[in-house]
Order: sequence, then C-alpha cells, then structure tokens
Amino acid sequence: MMGDAVNTIEWTSKSLEQTLALGALIAQQVRAGDVIALNGHLGAGKTQFVRGLAAGLGVDQRLVSSPTFVLMSEYGTGNVDLPAVVHIDAYRLKGLSDLESMGWSPELLAGSATVIEWADRIAEELPDDHLRVELQHAPGDERQVTITAAGESWTERLPLMRAALERLGKAHVCPTCGAEVLETAESFPFCSKRCRLVDLNKWFRGDYRIGTELNNVEDVNDLEELQ
Ligand SMILES: [Zn+2]
Repeated sequence: MMGDAVNTIEWTSKSLEQTLALGALIAQQVRAGDVIALNGHLGAGKTQFVRGLAAGLGVDQRLVSSPTFVLMSEYGTGNVDLPAVVHIDAYRLKGLSDLESMGWSPELLAGSATVIEWADRIAEELPDDHLRVELQHAPGDERQVTITAAGESWTERLPLMRAALERLGKAHVCPTCGAEVLETAESFPFCSKRCRLVDLNKWFRGDYRIGTELNNVEDVNDLEELQ
C-alpha cells in the first residue's frame, strides 16, 4: 500500500546498542509537546530505546530505568526549549488522567517530550499527531522495528529519520551511548574516553555484558578517577 510506504519505516536493529542509537537518532527530531508511543513485549528493548531517546535530549541515561513499578518518571534535560522527558508506563493505566495525582497534566505534556510504553493500551487517548515505535523480537539480539508517523508533523519528519537510519545500519555505534563511532577514533569502539570509563564502571559493578577486558593499569586508574 502506498500510504504505508510514506508513513512507515521498517528497520532492523542488530543489537541493544543499535536500539539505544535508534532512540538517540529519533531524539534529533523531537520537539516539545511530542508524544512517542512505544510498543513491544518484555525484553524487546523498550527501556534501551527510552535511554537512547532521553540521552539524545540531554538526560543522563543512567537515570532511566524500566518504569515497571513507577507509572511515570520525569527527567530534566537542562534544555530550556524542551525541559523534560516524561516516561510513562501505560501497562496498568486506564487513561492518562490516572497520572494526575502524580503531577501529570496537559500542560506538562505540552512542554515535554513524552514517551509512553505499552501505549496501545491507551490508544484512544494518544494525540492525533504522534510517532508510534514498535519493537519486536527477531532471532538473536536482532529486533524488528516499525516506526509509524501518525499525523502530518511526524510524516514530514520521517524522510530525515529514514536517511539517518540507513546510515546507522552501516555504522559502528558506541556501546555506551549509541553515538556513531569511526573505526579510526582513538577511543574506538567507544565514542569518547568518558564512555569507555562508564563501560569499565559497569564491568566492576558486575552488570557487564560486552566483551571488553580490563587489561592495563591505566584503565584501573581511570576508573578510580571516575568513582
Ligand atoms: Zn559514547
């Protein structure tokens, strides 16, 4: 169908890092008042996507956790034009008004970027103009991503996103923040020394996933500096 091609991007994320990078890439198109409707089963990478999105908007991504027991979180961006990212878990919500006691209001929505997990559960309450992102399990670490622009403003932004995603599919991305990294970079495979240190810190805390080894004294000194 022609309409699908215009309003939809199908993309494959090859890793958690690419899902993070996808979030950061979409963040480049986000304006105050935008709503991103996120869908996907447990473990599909929704939290990783939100981390990338939030980091792309200036939030310290380490603040972003799965909202499983928190219906709504608000993260400051330090940017006056878009001061907050609001992260909502709609799994147990009947509607957005359920969040009013937690400080949610239409005004908050207007001044923030809002990302709603399990958004299909409150589909009737989503604004006409929103971006729908669906993450689906695929073999291994791959995820099938379907991005759908609902409404005119997102449809207009889709071609830029499509071009950036094509580049991302080919690029190496920083395992910490999802930024694109050239293989010639001194900090490769990380985008910066800072991201390499954040990664080492994870290794020490035991939630390390990627196969880097601590192999020299300089790394240990750097780590002590970070803590
Ligand atoms: Zn990085």
